Amino acid sequence: MASINGDVRNPTEVRMSQMVLPCHANHRGQLSTGQLLKWIDTAACLSAERHAGCPCVTASMDDIYFEQTISVGQVVNLKTKVNRAFNSSMEFSCMQIVERSREGEMNGEVLAQKTRVESVELVLPPHANHQGNTFGGQIMAWMENIATIAASRLCHAHPTLKVIEMFHFRGPSQVGDRLILKAIVNNAFKDSMEVGVCVEAFCHDVGVPRRHINSAFMTFVVLDENNHTCILPRIKPETGDGERRYREAIARRKIRLDRKYVISCNQSEVPLSVPWDPCNQVYLSYNNVSALKMLVSKTDWVLASEINKVHLYTLEDGKFLSFKVEITVSIDARQTFNLLSDMSRRRNASSCKKWMRTMLFIT
Ligand code: ADP
Repeated sequence: MASINGDVRNPTEVRMSQMVLPCHANHRGQLSTGQLLKWIDTAACLSAERHAGCPCVTASMDDIYFEQTISVGQVVNLKTKVNRAFNSSMEFSCMQIVERSREGEMNGEVLAQKTRVESVELVLPPHANHQGNTFGGQIMAWMENIATIAASRLCHAHPTLKVIEMFHFRGPSQVGDRLILKAIVNNAFKDSMEVGVCVEAFCHDVGVPRRHINSAFMTFVVLDENNHTCILPRIKPETGDGERRYREAIARRKIRLDRKYVISCNQSEVPLSVPWDPCNQVYLSYNNVSALKMLVSKTDWVLASEINKVHLYTLEDGKFLSFKVEITVSIDARQTFNLLSDMSRRRNASSCKKWMRTMLFIT
């Protein structure tokens, strides 16, 4: 059994969450049975492959009784797992839960884990270009879909997407890849919430590690019938990563509001720089780290000198000249981290009059 987030799971278990959209519905606005069977079959096939470690096809499906209809706007959660394996076939079970939105229930505090969503998508030829690479737009649509489901679990209403931050593709995915999408509400502010989504890809070959394809942060609001934003419940983050993401969401919101303010040209009213203060600590360090990450990922760095395995790179970008020093050392990563994160060893740097931003990359 595998343990994911403290939750013990059968290793063949696959979860899929789908929001029923008009394109999935029949003329009565109800989920078409064919579409539901397609989702069940995809999830079951991925479960079977997790057990067999090779591609599988559907051989038969038992009798299915449809007891209730599912309408547009509802969410279907599927959970499939292999029950028994025979010589050349497997039997699986599928549990299907329908989430109905309960409008009006919007107060108190919600545990972040209640908004957690995990889903899987199989990349098929219609999702890809002529070279077999998945369309970025398709991945973004899947991400938006799962983020909307996470947001609706906080507010029990239909959320509206207001802002998308940073759809940065870290690598391609191809036809045949399985994409695992995970989302959770990182923080809820008075009338908006931030949902984070992360996408990983893997192929059916056993032992090939998952690849991180994309991560993005989306801001949702809930609008009433007069198009006014509604007050949202507070969120109680999970301990560990949840608390970190909760604080980072506050920092991202502040950066977003600052950017909006810069663009709105009201810059003469308030100073733009953020003063050093313990309450700004997370904001400033998040801003620094994300600025450095963007800088370092630029492709036009030029190697200026190389002496004793120390590489000095420069990058000219408009009025700015940036330097990057790269040294390859072979010591234990944990020890390197401990040495570099010990601020007492940086007395000279801290007394330095000029600002210098440093960042450590451990590979
Ligand atoms: P970070 O953790 O620094 O935010 P990640 O790329 O790991 O960056 O994740 C991006 C976002 O995806 C997270 O902020 C979180 O909202 C969501 N996420 C990541 N892992 C999970 C998970 N296991 N379950 C639900 N949501 C997740």
